[in-house]
Amino acid sequence: MQKIHTSTANARKNLLHETTSYLTKNYDLVVIEDLNVKGTLKNHALAKHISDAAWGEFTRQLEYKSTWYGSRVVKADRFFASSKTCSSCGVPKATLPLGVRTFHCEACGFEMDRPQCSYQPG
Ligand SMILES: [Zn+2]
Repeated sequence: MQKIHTSTANARKNLLHETTSYLTKNYDLVVIEDLNVKGTLKNHALAKHISDAAWGEFTRQLEYKSTWYGSRVVKADRFFASSKTCSSCGVPKATLPLGVRTFHCEACGFEMDRPQCSYQPG
């Protein structure tokens, strides 16, 4: 019987590499939101995803792989409320809870499903 030795560290490393390769190979533009990670960790729903993703390593890989595959990585400023800003007219919303999955702009009537990464590494 064959034994498979693995570790959490290795699994995490592979996941990061698969994900950053996938993104830089398949997208011309990857926008990273430079979130205040410490602040975000207070939100328990997000905390697990962010610590598991090892954010610093994730962005480092995205940056060097983007030069291999010809994609572009842009860091959105942490104080720029990108998810709250209407991509049609540029008017920001005061609040936009995570649970709200459709963006609706009161200023111009623009509507858009909020994007979610559905990539699941095989
Ligand atoms: Zn608008």
